[in-house]
Amino acid sequence: QVTTTVEPSLQVAPYACQRRTPLDHPHSALVMALETLAEAALFEGEEARGLAFTRAASVLRCLPRALRGTHELSGLPGIGAHSHRVLQEVLEDGVCVEVETVKQSERYQTMKLFTQIFGVGVRTADRWYREGLRSLGDLRSHGTRLTREQQAGVQYFEDLAVPVGQAEAESLVCLVLDATAHLLPNASVTLAGGFRRGKPCGHDVDLLLSHPEEGREVGLLGSLVAWLGEQDLLLYQHSSYSTAAEASSSCRALDRFDRCFTILRLVLPTAGTRVRAWRAVRLDLVVVPHSQLPFALLGWTGSRHFERELRRFARHEREMVLNSHGLYDMRQGTFLLASSEEEIFQHLGLDYIPPTLRNA
Ligand code: ATP
Ligand code: MN
Ligand code: MN
Repeated sequence: QVTTTVEPSLQVAPYACQRRTPLDHPHSALVMALETLAEAALFEGEEARGLAFTRAASVLRCLPRALRGTHELSGLPGIGAHSHRVLQEVLEDGVCVEVETVKQSERYQTMKLFTQIFGVGVRTADRWYREGLRSLGDLRSHGTRLTREQQAGVQYFEDLAVPVGQAEAESLVCLVLDATAHLLPNASVTLAGGFRRGKPCGHDVDLLLSHPEEGREVGLLGSLVAWLGEQDLLLYQHSSYSTAAEASSSCRALDRFDRCFTILRLVLPTAGTRVRAWRAVRLDLVVVPHSQLPFALLGWTGSRHFERELRRFARHEREMVLNSHGLYDMRQGTFLLASSEEEIFQHLGLDYIPPTLRNA
């Protein structure tokens, strides 16, 4: 008996928040090529070009099966002429000359190194590059002026360059749960960020703190930071508190929660003879009023591209403004409430995408 299998053509929705994007996919070489060019464009301050490559990479991440060949690219949204060229080259030759050239370049390698330092963005990295600096050693020997944050970033660079693993993330959750149980009984601690999306490792751990009785969470950040300090676990911290004035001002790109970016001393399981029984890890703490928790959870779970697409979809397709605090319907002139992430997707008229499928 002869059977013919007809492969359905690849159907991809235009917005990443309409798509299910798992962590693992069969196009890692293609995605890496495009994401390298995206990164290189951002290093040159070319946001739009960077976004175009990021969009194309994100489309490849969500494909339900491997591409059969270049001909299948034409039906996909968001693949511009340049991305198409790069993908064709990788599909046909295994590598793309432009990508390899970028990766080898002193500019790309140095910008990658500098922007990896905690507290260093593209503009600072670019300034240092133009001053002729090329390495961490150069920063030290030239007596480059560093902010307190950057000093910590350089000091703990080697530790922070090692990704945080799942076991380490769990031990940080336990640590913070322990502390909050003493400081504010019934407070909740929720893991967000890449770990919530199922990533096996990440550059930091993102935790949202809240309390079922709205208002009880006020002051928690200060006492938690003080507690971590007393335990001698805080290597660096930078807190910002939402003031009443800020909280009442209208939608901003950055959210206004009490939050703290830290570098913690993570105590490692003792191996008897080990001399140094700790390592530095990055932990982000965000304190959220209970009524905003679903919005904060959605906003802090990522990926960054998934978030960007959710907000773009809300604005352009629904005339709504979404951020980590709430969802505003511009046509009705009202805020839409939600008690779960599912309800936010419902308000937006989107199929629910679970965290593990938000790796756009
Ligand atoms: P990794 O695993 O490498 O940490 P990640 O996806 O967890 O990756 P983060 O930089 O930790 O990346 O950010 C997690 C999420 O939190 C992102 O989706 C981002 O949109 C959100 N986020 C991060 N910083 C802020 C901020 N200052 N204000 C608002 N949202 C933020
Ligand atoms: Mn993270
Ligand atoms: Mn983070």
